[in-house]
Amino acid sequence: MATVITDDCINCAACEPECPNTAIYEGGVEYQHQGSAHRALSDDFFYIIPDRCSECVGFFDEEACAVVCPVDCCIPDPDRPETEVQLIERARILHPDENFGDSFPSRFSDDAGGDDAGEPAAEAGSAATEGAAAATPAPAAAATPAPAAAATPAPAAPVVEASSVLDFPVPVLCRSCEGEYEVDFRFLTPGTVLRCPLCQASFSPGQRVFLEISRRLDRYVDLMNAEVDRHESAVKDEVESHEANIADIKEASADELRRIVESLLERPRRSMFG
Ligand code: SF4
Ligand code: SF4
Repeated sequence: MATVITDDCINCAACEPECPNTAIYEGGVEYQHQGSAHRALSDDFFYIIPDRCSECVGFFDEEACAVVCPVDCCIPDPDRPETEVQLIERARILHPDENFGDSFPSRFSDDAGGDDAGEPAAEAGSAATEGAAAATPAPAAAATPAPAAAATPAPAAPVVEASSVLDFPVPVLCRSCEGEYEVDFRFLTPGTVLRCPLCQASFSPGQRVFLEISRRLDRYVDLMNAEVDRHESAVKDEVESHEANIADIKEASADELRRIVESLLERPRRSMFG
């Protein structure tokens, strides 16, 4: 079923730029479809053109308009039941240049909306304005040399705090020059305006982009902390094994020395009187 906007809509316009199919229009504004203009489906509220809505199948794991709507008024239209096959076919017709392949994001997929939700296949449009926040070009990838094996246990790695993701450098691909630069996550809040340091094109992240990145960074923290736990456990096991080996070597050496000393020391001679 296509998504529909109910009359609870407060006309905040948050949903419109998030739609990958340009299916959302402001109330009273005529819409474009199949090369011609059509009368608005609603004069009072934002509305969705059913023939352009794929329920975000092909792009996202959930309906992008519903994700950003502050009053939850983007809902499945019970009068227009449609299958995933119909919806991806609609996306293919609307985007003939896009290769969706056989494995595409879909709200019908098993992990849709979960923590493991994948990256979107295509990013919804976003507005750009002046007054950009700082962004830096991505440095060339550098290989980190493996640490030398240490005889003593490594100090426990610090636990990764959730707040540390604010400084995480998020790679951003500029849509104008296709160059890549990095932006600290703290600057990716919806509405912040960024400027590509390579071509000066501006970029403003939307709510959906922010939420997707935030989710992935939550997972990053979980994975990092799991790795810290694994490392600490491995170090503890290694220390215990090392100490046991040292004790075994010492004990074996002492036994051998004891036998050597016993065999070399002369026994006292007995006198003829006993
Ligand atoms: S569900 Fe997706 S495709 Fe449909 S109107 Fe909302 S954002 Fe657009
Ligand atoms: S986000 Fe929700 S309330 Fe805002 S315009 Fe869209 S449908 Fe209406």
